[in-house]
Amino acid sequence: MTQEQEKWTVERSERLYRVREWGAGFFGVSENGDLQVTARPDDFSEAVSIPEIIAGIQARGLDMPVLLRIENLLDTQITLLNESFLQAMKKLAYRGSYLGAYPIKVNQQQQVVEAVTRHGRRYHHGLEAGSKAELIAALGMHNDPEAVLVCNGYKDEEFVDLALHAVQLGFQCVLVVEMPNELPLIIERSKALGVKPILGVRAKLSSQATGQWAESGGDRSIFGLNATQIIEVIDRLGEANMLDCLQLLHYHLGSQIPNIREIRAGVAEASRIYAGLTAEGAGMRYLDLGGGLAVDYDGTRTSLSSSRNYSVHEYCADVIEGVMTVLDEQGVDHPTIITESGRALVAYYSVLLLNVVDAARFEPEPLPEALPEDTNIHIRHLHETMLALTRDNVQESFNDALYYRDEVRQAFNQGIISFRERALGENVFWLTVRTIAALTRNLPSLPLELEGLARTLSDIYYCNFSVFQSLPDAWAIHQLFPVMPVHRLDEEPAREGSLADITCDCDGKIDRFIEGAGVNRTMALHALKPLEEYYLGVFLVGAYQETLGDLHNLFGDTNVVTVRILENGKYDFVGELEGDTVEDVLSYVEYDTKALLTRFRETAEASVRKGLITPAQRREILQAYRNGLHGYTYLER
Ligand SMILES: *Cc1c(COP(=O)(O)O)cnc(C)c1O
Repeated sequence: MTQEQEKWTVERSERLYRVREWGAGFFGVSENGDLQVTARPDDFSEAVSIPEIIAGIQARGLDMPVLLRIENLLDTQITLLNESFLQAMKKLAYRGSYLGAYPIKVNQQQQVVEAVTRHGRRYHHGLEAGSKAELIAALGMHNDPEAVLVCNGYKDEEFVDLALHAVQLGFQCVLVVEMPNELPLIIERSKALGVKPILGVRAKLSSQATGQWAESGGDRSIFGLNATQIIEVIDRLGEANMLDCLQLLHYHLGSQIPNIREIRAGVAEASRIYAGLTAEGAGMRYLDLGGGLAVDYDGTRTSLSSSRNYSVHEYCADVIEGVMTVLDEQGVDHPTIITESGRALVAYYSVLLLNVVDAARFEPEPLPEALPEDTNIHIRHLHETMLALTRDNVQESFNDALYYRDEVRQAFNQGIISFRERALGENVFWLTVRTIAALTRNLPSLPLELEGLARTLSDIYYCNFSVFQSLPDAWAIHQLFPVMPVHRLDEEPAREGSLADITCDCDGKIDRFIEGAGVNRTMALHALKPLEEYYLGVFLVGAYQETLGDLHNLFGDTNVVTVRILENGKYDFVGELEGDTVEDVLSYVEYDTKALLTRFRETAEASVRKGLITPAQRREILQAYRNGLHGYTYLER
């Protein structure tokens, strides 16, 4: 290879981190090695540098970690979904319309729901509430009489009354019957309040979806009504003279459905049920497909659980075609299609930015020319094993090395060798493992035992964040998120490592990274430079991560910064939310921080009395305590 061919390029970084594959056209690498983000997919002429945004955030006095929201990305996704449905309807001559309903549970943060309703307004994009609290939020955030407000979830009298009041106010507020015993309550409350409700039923389909979040479809799924129960609903409504109130059929196969065939199967079955309800005389107007529209987290465009084998355009076209095929055959009017897409709308627009605090390298010390005369026999054998290593005897040598390492440990436990000698033995062992890893690096197939060796020797980068607070799905269900450095992308990332957070928990780590259609246990990283910060981004974290997170080790909410990219390649900071202080998180777990301070004062005063500190030192110590209470829960600069 010539010098020229070896030179690292930003294109190589783009390929290595697969930015163009998972980034949906929003992310790319600039000439100078910065990660950049654009509001117009695939057009980087007015893109904004993420390191520049970080500099702006820090100039404003906010520390890492920061959850960065790029509003335009949400805007673009809402437009994409709505326009794709409208286009498909036009092309196929569909005689109904489309209405979106954003499910609040996907990201309940006020800023997010507010942004969805603001950007969705021109499409009358509505909301979906799955609990009383979400309905109360929705009613306060939203006042578009043409949008729908879908109420799923289990309901009590208070929930039902609120939804009926919403109808009185002119909201298209649909009460979806999820359980058989909700219906008598709804009928009774409607009569009591004198409100004609808009009702829906949630059907259990026999079609099943696969993937990480598939609700076990079919008869045993916990949500929804089976065929017999839906017929009972019809009969009861008929008896109450309210059959015209039943206007919506709802189903939800689960979130992140990677395979379009499963989506089509669900649509076909639901369309049949819809036609059946119409034939029974219900006042059907809406077919609500729930969520499921997936995000291509790994960029493979496959039916793997972290991907999807279809585009948004294809999803919309297939839905419309599927509905029309069944309903045209049955001579039923085309309904308003509702989808409750959450993940696909909000995943892209949040990026978790973090700084690396330190890195641990597993690098054995080089050995002296010769081992000392009196070196223990097992260490000598270990050393000989290392010297005799060739490509042809790696497995045998690895077995021997393990054996002698255990002998060394035993000798230590029996008091035969010193701690220093044991350290020498371990060092020879790691040198041996390292040599084996180097010898086997490019072999096509390896004995199972040797496969993980490179990983055992990789670095650990310690990052200023908590997996439990900011990426709960990475911890709980091993969801893959794209992770990459946001700068220095014109330099070769010469290290391999996994990421650890700053909680004191061995689960506080990221060690599964996207790599084509597989999972890599390490990722390429740049060597840390002294006195220079190194920043990483975790991408597509806008859906489900914010409120599922917990306060493990009392690391609280991160700072949140929202930016809006402008036409001219500049950007505005349009919002900032300071993360939790130590005082905040302590109060969440019921501490009275005033009482804590009082007690700490008394402890400090006792130390003055004992002559351990001076009153001036006490003052300084109390100030440090107070600063700690008011500070960020993460590491501050
Ligand atoms: C969770 C949920 C959704 C959201 O699904 P996504 O796959 O995130 O779009 C929609 N509807 C219902 C009923 C849900 O429970």
